[in-house]
Amino acid sequence: MEGCLFCDIANRKIDARIVFEDEKVIAFNDIAPQSPVHILVIPKKHILSLTNVESREDYEYVAGIFSAMKKIVEEKNLDRSGFRVVVNHGKNAGQAVPHLHFHILGGRKLNWPPG
Ligand code: AMP
Ligand code: ZN
Repeated sequence: MEGCLFCDIANRKIDARIVFEDEKVIAFNDIAPQSPVHILVIPKKHILSLTNVESREDYEYVAGIFSAMKKIVEEKNLDRSGFRVVVNHGKNAGQAVPHLHFHILGGRKLNWPPG
């Protein structure tokens, strides 16, 4: 979508440290990492948020994201040490970018409950 930061990253209009890409998904390092490993995994299709996953096609993108996350955590050995996946939705969760994204956080002990 025009003017969407993460669409621009997916379309290579804006630079990012890309760690994984396939037909449906792109994953890149977060610009302001909250842990030693902090990767954002996004659908290449502009889907606003979790509650906007509606069509069969949208669910195929989400399936692609889960498959990508599995590959990424295995590649980074986070499946051994542990990791967290976060999706922020809306104001209370502080969602800053209105394009669905899954945060993968790892590489340190993560506190629970989160802030
Ligand atoms: P959220 O608060 O869940 O919407 O997360 C948005 C995330 O995008 C934050 O963790 C930001 O640090 C990250 N972010 C913002 N701009 C960029 C960018 N140009 N490249 C990579 N990550 C970004
Ligand atoms: Zn977008």
